[in-house]
Parts: sequence; structure tokens; C-alpha cells
Amino acid sequence: MYFNKNKLFIEKVSCLKIAREFGTPSYCYSLNRLKNNIRNFQRNFKTISPLLCFSVKSNSNLQILKEIKKLGMGADVVSKGEMLQALKAGISTNKIVFSGVGKKTDELEFAIKKKILLINAESESEIYEIERLAKLKKTIVNIGIRLNPNIDAKTLKKISTGKHEDKFGLTEKAFLNVLKYFKDSNFVKIKCLSVHIGSQITDYKPYLKMINVLDKIIKKSKHLFDYIDLGGGMGIQYEKKTKLFNYKKYREIISNFLKKHKVKIIFEPGRSIIANCAMLLTQIIYIKNTSKKRFVILDAAMNDLMRPALYGSYHNIIPLVKSNKKNKKIHDFVGPICETTDKFLSVKGFQKLNEKDYVAILDVGAYGMSLSSNYNLRPKASEIMVEKKSFKVILKRQKLSNII
Ligand SMILES: *Cc1c(COP(=O)(O)O)cnc(C)c1O
Repeated sequence: MYFNKNKLFIEKVSCLKIAREFGTPSYCYSLNRLKNNIRNFQRNFKTISPLLCFSVKSNSNLQILKEIKKLGMGADVVSKGEMLQALKAGISTNKIVFSGVGKKTDELEFAIKKKILLINAESESEIYEIERLAKLKKTIVNIGIRLNPNIDAKTLKKISTGKHEDKFGLTEKAFLNVLKYFKDSNFVKIKCLSVHIGSQITDYKPYLKMINVLDKIIKKSKHLFDYIDLGGGMGIQYEKKTKLFNYKKYREIISNFLKKHKVKIIFEPGRSIIANCAMLLTQIIYIKNTSKKRFVILDAAMNDLMRPALYGSYHNIIPLVKSNKKNKKIHDFVGPICETTDKFLSVKGFQKLNEKDYVAILDVGAYGMSLSSNYNLRPKASEIMVEKKSFKVILKRQKLSNII
């Protein structure tokens, strides 16, 4: 994404052109960026040759999953719907892992029937349920067990998942008990230890702590795991002040771990693969001035992009046509929804904007469209894929008739 003669471009296409042709709000992805992100991720961990399972909850667009599949990634899914979508994209069952604290019986049955690589179980009850189904079907089911390593990932509180107060995984004690109990099961084979301590992690140190916990517990358990699933969580640079995640350090930590444990590593990255591939194009409906603020009312709202309302997270906003004229007031970029949290960004000073102008909300590829809803009975946005000079709709804008 760059400016050419003051106009914003994605790959070789003017964003203004896309906005005018397909309307707004529209999610707009760069295929080149997606490919580069995947290749960089693969390069960063080349020496440990992990299995990469894309976290489908971060973005479940079928065309995007197809591209991800082409580059060799599998899928980490958290529902039957996501499993169906991954399969539809052509991702093979031996590259699919199934996570989540509340898998229902029909979802487990489907996963067992499809013989996916691993069901990552998150409670004793779930493992009993899997065993019951496996017995019924007279089959062997490979599972992972998710450990809650009680690590503070030092990320936003609402996206931390690896502390004891979080609902995910088993405590060390329960984990060791389960290993003992299912050791000789004819139906359930514990092949994997899985962890995922949170999202948008920008420091390698929580991962270092996590690996140390894994090292200890594996030794204590004396269990031979085929896989260690380290989850995802690697952060991206939403703000310039955020430091870049140190992949080299993380790889070194894992390499050391692998000297002691002969296992295959699985990663489940979502955000680090897709977040910075997309922007949300949106048009200014009205501008409202008060004595303190300039409210820029957009045609995108929290139903299109929920992260700022849900987590207070930061997304930069830039104009589609750059100008040198400034307005020093505080600008609040808001949506039309009847909620005070329907606000994307508050900034002191912005270039001069007019009603009907367009702006782009950046880095929205992960947990953007996938978290969108029909709140206020607003139809969902369209999704556009750009590849060099060409661009196409990869998800049509919902029509009101689809939801009324
Ligand atoms: C959400 C999630 C991921 C992906 O996290 P990112 O921060 O997007 O990389 C991976 N594994 C599990 C179990 C998850 O719940």
C-alpha cells in the first residue's frame, strides 16, 4: 500500500477505483502481501520445518483459504463450519487441527469421520466424550491435549488465553492425570501437546517461558509426543511504536527445545499471516463539528470491524487522496451504529477531509471480516482481492434481501 501522485494504491490498483466500482465499505486484500507473509513465515522457521496450520477464525474467506492452501499451509479450525470451509478450500485432512473449549458431539463426530490430523482437547470431559465416540465407531482417534501453562502473554487482557484465570486448556495437574489415565486407551492416542497463550504477542519472552514450562512438563510426564503444537499469537505492527516480533529469537528457543525433544512442531498463525494484507475502504457520510471535536462519520461501523469496539485495539486510518491542507482539531472516526463504542480512532489533527471523501482503515485482514455481524441489520461488506493490476470480488456484499 503506497501513495502514487497522492492517490492510495494497493498493488497496482488505485483504491479510489475499487471504492467507486464496488462501493463501500469493502475489505480489500493484497495477494502479493499474503504470499510474502507466508513465505517469510516459512523462511523464519525453515530450520525446524514445522507444519503450519492457518488459524481459520482470523479469516475464513474461501478464496483466501485456497491461496493459503496453494502455499502449503494446513488449517487450525474451531468449529464444524470452519472445518467444512477448510475442506472446501481443498486443505487435506492430515493438515487440519481442531481446537476449542466447547466442541459439540456432532462436531467431534465429523472430525473423527474425516480423520483429521488432531483434535486438540481442552478438558477431561471432552477427552471422555472423544473416547466414547471412538469406541462407538470402533476407531482410534489421535488427539492433542491443550495445556494452560499459566503464562502472562503481556498482550491485551481480552486476548490473553494462557493464564489460569482463562478458560482454555488443562492445568498441569489435570494434564498429567489425563496422560496417565489414557496411556493405555485403545481408542484415544495422545499424540500432541498443544498450547496457545494469546494473540498479538510482540515480545518473545512469554514464548520463552512457555517453552520452559513445556520442557518441564514433558520430562515430568515421560510421555512421547509426536507433535508439539505451539499455537499462534505472533504480533504485527499496528502502530509504528510497536516493536517487530523477533522471529529469530523464537526460532532459536525452539531449536534448543528440539535438541531435547524429538517432535514435529505445529504452528497455528492467523494474524501474522493475514492482518496486514487488507484495508477497509470506507466513505465519509457526514462530518459533524462540535466545539471540541470533529466527528467523521463513516459508512463502515463496528459490525464491519469490531476490534476497536471489542478490545480497544488500534487501527490506523489514511485518506485515499492525500492533501497538504490540515485540520488541527481532534478527529473521531466513528460509524453510524447506535453505540458509543462504535468508534475506530481518535486523532489530534488530520488532513482536511470533506463529506463523500474516502478513507482506508489499515491492517484489518485478521479478525476483521471474520468478526463482522449484521448488528443494526446492516448487510456485511464485500471483499475484494487485488493481484497486480487485476482485482475481483471474493465475497459479494450482502444484500438486505439476504437478511430481511
Ligand atoms: C486464535 C487462535 C490462533 C491464532 O492466533 P493468532 O494470534 O491470530 O496467530 C491459534 N490457535 C488457537 C488455538 C487459537 O484460538
